[in-house]
Amino acid sequence: MKSDKKYALGDSVWHAFSGYVEREEVCPVCYGKLTVKLILGNDEPVTLPCSFCAPGYSSPTGKIKKLQYVEEAALKKIDAVNILQTEEGEIIEYQSGTLLLRPDRIFETKEEALLCAGKLVDEENMKEENKHKFLLSDKKSMLPWNAGCFLQEAEINKAKAKLHRKKARQHEREAKQHEKKADKYAEKAQLFRIQKG
Ligand SMILES: [Zn+2]
Repeated sequence: MKSDKKYALGDSVWHAFSGYVEREEVCPVCYGKLTVKLILGNDEPVTLPCSFCAPGYSSPTGKIKKLQYVEEAALKKIDAVNILQTEEGEIIEYQSGTLLLRPDRIFETKEEALLCAGKLVDEENMKEENKHKFLLSDKKSMLPWNAGCFLQEAEINKAKAKLHRKKARQHEREAKQHEKKADKYAEKAQLFRIQKG
């Protein structure tokens, strides 16, 4: 809907805009279970923490946050009218405080403004849905890669543990050798004390 009416300084108009509320939904990837299972090429199942419902580097929550847009209309008083001369003709801009009021978003009645806001809300909600759909497909395609990283990390840690166990055994052997040497020297010291005495 387009409002072509020209307004004057000091006029009160209904400004249409889309507000929003934040709502929580069950995670569409792990369905609140916090983990997801992936079947590898050799049919081996791998369980991974869900990264779709894990904000930043934190743990999965099983829930996601979505914005729900809602139509709003507010009464505003025009306190500035800017007329811009452009190649396409004259463009009128209205202002209320620091808020710029687009001519196609201001109306004489609240009903008209809400009708316009309803259209804005539909567009915003569609954008939000599309954004989530994209994130979801992107995340799903990342799962095998995540599994690869986790498995690789597990292999590296297994190898490291093996190396540490090997080193520990070596240290154990060395400790025993040192103990033996210590015993030998203790014996010698004892003999030396006996001879001296
Ligand atoms: Zn999840």
